[in-house]
Order: sequence, then structure tokens, then C-alpha cells
Amino acid sequence: MIVTDPVHAVLLASSGLMLAATTAADATEALSRPEQVAVLAVAALIVGGLYLLACAVWPYANCGRCDGAGKSRSPSGKKFRNCPRCKGTGRRKRIGRRLLDHRDNH
Ligand SMILES: [Zn+2]
Repeated sequence: MIVTDPVHAVLLASSGLMLAATTAADATEALSRPEQVAVLAVAALIVGGLYLLACAVWPYANCGRCDGAGKSRSPSGKKFRNCPRCKGTGRRKRIGRRLLDHRDNH
């Protein structure tokens, strides 16, 4: 009995800790998870709104292939043709702007 007493004590303590941990987890889940979701949703809305606003003001970015030059140069660098991806414009529409245009068309 003298040997099992500490074991029982440890078992009791660990079970108590487990209970405390689970109740604490329940409490934090019940209290903070909706708040966390709300904060994340608001942050996502703000970031998304700012991104769409930026895409409305600055709808274009440099073409990824020609880096905005609009030219596909020959190996010598003296001759060039229009960049096939941007057709010589040197720009591409940003994804957010495509979303805006897509929504405007409907
Ligand atoms: Zn290009």
C-alpha cells in the first residue's frame, strides 16, 4: 500500500490535470474560437477589399514573360517581336481586376 499510494497520487493528479486541461480547452474553444473566426473574417475582408480596391486603381501588372517590355528579343538582343503572352502590351491584368471585370459583365 505504501508503494501504490504515490502511484495513485500520480494517477489522480494526472487525471485531474487532464480534466483541467479539457475544461480549459472547452472554455477557450467556447470563448475564443468564434472571436478568432470573426477576427480572421474581418481581417480577410479588409485585406480582400484593399486588394480589390488596388486592383481597381492599378489594374495591370508587368507581363511575367517580358517583364513589362512587351518584346521577345532575339539572342543578339537587337531584334525582337511582340511578346507572345502579352501581345506586345507588356502588361497583364491582375487577378483581382479579372474578378471585378467578370462581375461587372454579369
Ligand atoms: Zn509580355
